Amino acid sequence: MSDLRESLESMVWQYGFRGVRDGKPVIHTGDMSALEEAFEALGWEDPHPVPDVDGLVCDVEGCMEPVSDQGYSWSWTGYWMVCGNHSEGRLVGKGQPEMKRRAVQRENSRDANGYLPSVSEEKKLSQGGIDGKN
Ligand SMILES: [Zn+2]
Repeated sequence: MSDLRESLESMVWQYGFRGVRDGKPVIHTGDMSALEEAFEALGWEDPHPVPDVDGLVCDVEGCMEPVSDQGYSWSWTGYWMVCGNHSEGRLVGKGQPEMKRRAVQRENSRDANGYLPSVSEEKKLSQGGIDGKN
């Protein structure tokens, strides 16, 4: 059952509709019957809350919109993941707004190659150690 549940959740995350309700990020069925049945099978309310984490919710402080632009906007200061509204702001020349603490911490944690810590550790392992001696 856990594989089936994971598959169903994966499908819902891919095809569910993203939005903001009462100031909180959510995923919802958009009244699509297949998604309604999937939400019911998962025991999820509609809308279902989305955690404010990297890659799911916009990096801009105070914004709860879903991410639609990864790495384009203000790319000279970091790999920012922002919503359509903030991406559009960048396109019309608006300056970079204040970014969320979690996003700034993520970007500050990159190593000299631009890798995040976990990716960097995997890279070291795949190369048998960063200096080739391990
Ligand atoms: Zn935004």
